[in-house]
Amino acid sequence: MTGAPTAYPFDAPASQALLERALAVTPGGVNSPVRAFRAVGGTPRFMVSGDGPYLTDADGREYVDLVCSWGPMILGHGHPQVQRAVSDAAARGFSFGTPSENEVALAEEIVRRVEPVEQVRLVSSGTEATMSAIRLARGYTGRSLVVKFAGCYHGHVDSLLAQAGSGVATFALPDSAGVPKEMAAETIVLPFNDLDAVEAAFAERGSEIAALITEASPGNMGVVPPAPGFTEGLRRITAAHGALLISDEVMTGFRCSEAGWFGLEGPYAAGAPDLFTFGKVMGGGFPAAAFGGRADVMALLAPLGPVYQAGTLSGNPVATAAGLATLQLCTPALYARLDEVADALTAGLDEHLGAAGVPHVIQRAGSMFSVFFRDGAVRDYDEARAQHVPAYAAFFHSMLSQGVYLPPSAFESWFVSGAHDGAAVDRVLAALPGAASAAAEAFATIDS
Ligand code: PLP
Repeated sequence: MTGAPTAYPFDAPASQALLERALAVTPGGVNSPVRAFRAVGGTPRFMVSGDGPYLTDADGREYVDLVCSWGPMILGHGHPQVQRAVSDAAARGFSFGTPSENEVALAEEIVRRVEPVEQVRLVSSGTEATMSAIRLARGYTGRSLVVKFAGCYHGHVDSLLAQAGSGVATFALPDSAGVPKEMAAETIVLPFNDLDAVEAAFAERGSEIAALITEASPGNMGVVPPAPGFTEGLRRITAAHGALLISDEVMTGFRCSEAGWFGLEGPYAAGAPDLFTFGKVMGGGFPAAAFGGRADVMALLAPLGPVYQAGTLSGNPVATAAGLATLQLCTPALYARLDEVADALTAGLDEHLGAAGVPHVIQRAGSMFSVFFRDGAVRDYDEARAQHVPAYAAFFHSMLSQGVYLPPSAFESWFVSGAHDGAAVDRVLAALPGAASAAAEAFATIDS
């Protein structure tokens, strides 16, 4: 069951034509599965341009963008200062395969913002960041087991795909084919927000566990923040067993606050996470990501130490210029504006879904938020899955037909940007009554 409504307004002929071309040469017609609209049905929109809070598709239709490239476009599309930084960098060359100054400046900016991070290594994707952090933790501890939480997505790293969120949740896949069972056996998957389960797993196998990796505040099963004291508990338990704590801030980093989720929740009395991973916002829409943390752990990386890690395009001069220009514009005023936009949108959502009688709960982490079509707070992946997915698909298509682009899955965060001005917010608010009615109808007519 995809949870998709049975009929959609077919009003995207240019996107449909592009999809048919794409299907001939690319599996599923897309280069990342959630883009295919399989969870909501209909034709994925092929976008041709972005401007501030808006995207325009191949059929010339404009949408208020509440996906923001899945997080990176925190300033909106085509911010002039970032454009200038990118074109200046590109004018000087595309890739040198040598160190260059922007890499240093971007690393300095990350280290300045996130207090426990003493050193970083730049990579090109969040997947590379978490994969490398896991290898480093294994090299540091000489152990091999990794603990993760169901519903947390850390990229498509073999050992981290077990019960992952994001696209894996969207397609209801328990895991991925192609991951050797020996590899899967190296991963212990626990329910999020359940410290008793963490205590029990460490009591049983603590001396074999290299690291526990967690999304700092999960956004890949929808938004499910850690309960008060949960992160603190993870730090206490991992430290007691000599395992590293890896805080995956690929999504939340520089998005929830100047210092990411750590800036909202930390510092922790039990101590800081040993390693952090970053991506999305720090690349400003270009492929740049990072992992970093304690200097004594990072010192194990090649060329200083025995843990190998490398990349032809790591620290690419154009990507680092975009990331640096973006971070420099991520000021307290920007975060205040993101919060205002999120306040307005979540209040509108709550009001209109309530008026239409649609069971719902809206959860937030800074300005990240999502709506679950169910009653009661969502604390873990099982609760996230116990929502009315067809109601989301109906809601999504109503919003899309009214010019609002939402994540094409019920298991994803919504993202806003500093470019979402009053006019963009008003357009979203105006679309909500119709979408709430569509969700109410789906509740009444389609089984969840
Ligand atoms: N970690 C988290 C928390 C993410 O949200 C993602 C991507 O959505 C990743 C890692 C993987 O990043 P990438 O898609 O850049 O490989």
